[in-house]
Amino acid sequence: MSGHWEVVIGLEIHTQLATKSKIFSGASTAYGADPNTQACLVDLGYPGVLPVLNAEVVRMAAKFGLAVNATVARRSVFARKNYFYPDLPKGYQISQYELPIVEYGELFIRDDEGREKRVGITRAHLEEDAGKSVHTSFAKSSGIDLNRAGTPLLEIVSEPDLRSAREAVAYMRKIHSIVRYLEISDGNMQEGSFRCDANVSVRPRGQEELGTRAEIKNLNSFRFVERAINFEIERQIEVIEDGGEVVQETRLYDSDKDETRSMRSKEEANDYRYFPDPDLLPVELDDAFVEAVRATLPELPDAKQERFVAHYGLKAADAEILTTSRAQADYYEVVAEKTSANAQLAANWIIGDLSSLLNKEGIDIQESRIGAADLAGLLDRIADNTISGKIAKEVFDAMWSGEGSADQIIEARGLKQITDSGAIESIVDAVIEANPGQAAEYRSGKEKLLGFFVGQVMKETGGKANPAQVNQILKEKLE
Ligand code: ADP
Ligand code: MG
Repeated sequence: MSGHWEVVIGLEIHTQLATKSKIFSGASTAYGADPNTQACLVDLGYPGVLPVLNAEVVRMAAKFGLAVNATVARRSVFARKNYFYPDLPKGYQISQYELPIVEYGELFIRDDEGREKRVGITRAHLEEDAGKSVHTSFAKSSGIDLNRAGTPLLEIVSEPDLRSAREAVAYMRKIHSIVRYLEISDGNMQEGSFRCDANVSVRPRGQEELGTRAEIKNLNSFRFVERAINFEIERQIEVIEDGGEVVQETRLYDSDKDETRSMRSKEEANDYRYFPDPDLLPVELDDAFVEAVRATLPELPDAKQERFVAHYGLKAADAEILTTSRAQADYYEVVAEKTSANAQLAANWIIGDLSSLLNKEGIDIQESRIGAADLAGLLDRIADNTISGKIAKEVFDAMWSGEGSADQIIEARGLKQITDSGAIESIVDAVIEANPGQAAEYRSGKEKLLGFFVGQVMKETGGKANPAQVNQILKEKLE
């Protein structure tokens, strides 16, 4: 970014809480049902019906608060946020305003220089989602689907502490990882269960006062967050450098055109006429409740990462990747505990070969066609020199295709490594004899040719010769 301007970003992340029923009604929250089959009278906003708070959402919000070192309010209050929109039949959204359930939290990311950086979490409050307008099913009119109305959301608001699109994504990924560790959200971004609004401004470096911000609504992928913010930064700098002023407004990101567009001028809080919802009691929590929730906290990503470095001797960057999801971390631990191979080798295989296959097929590690114990079995054969790392990749692919365990495949395909140095020596002799020109060049100083000879020996042995032995014997014979 051009040195003169400093970027300031704050995120509002909406995460859908993974309850079976809605925040104020008994209707199901399951995704993908036929329109309006999962909206009861409360969700439809009928007069005379009363909301009843789902106790589970309170427990989940408290769990999140404790996980990010925040204060869990002993008293919080639901408020009505009044506005008109076709997907909001009540004419107001029930949210929390002055007294949210979670305040003053924090988490840590790596900044653009790779240093640990604290990002403040201003608050997290509970609210209900709205329904949605459907513009594709009817020729001349729009439909309204209220299945999503009343779905519980936790809105997590950051301090304006982020200084680049990359930092914003790192922060969002961390929140994503935490809510999934806590099992309070499935974090499914395609289904809209995890999305964010990005508030972006720029100011001359050194200036204390914040610049005027634009808010980019409803970003539902990490890539879009990064691209939308970067577009917006460029746009704002250009506006100011051309002598204009950034206006406070709400913008939409168009991923096809990769640009943000103005949607409406920014509304102020008092436009919403917030007031405490008279249909709902304040949420009052005691210490015993909060401590009981604390006792359910799992080991969180940062702590797990530190343990992986200390206990398994992993590189910090690898421990960070492995602990992004709890399922992946669990898989790793089973492999590392079971295999006699070194723990870093296990990490390399999961981060490398396994992840790329999972990505290619678009499946989660829980659905991996190679279980953790089976991968451990493969690594054992590398560790005890039965096969080389290169042959192991062939075995790995065969395991993925369902040909059996590593041992079965090595046996059936005859892949056992040749470690008999006599056998390797005679192949080396034959290869040198067949390539006298290259041998002479090597001897006159062109040592790069060693790779050529290694390749020839490997070709002769179908890749099965022990690479370290081949290298050593070749060097001896060529000198
Ligand atoms: P609103 O409720 O109107 O959306 P808030 O003051 O609650 O506004 O802030 C919403 C988000 O915008 C927060 O994440 C906050 O950190 C961020 N934010 C506020 N001012 C700025 C600014 N000037 N530049 C960038 N982000 C900002
Ligand atoms: Mg906002």
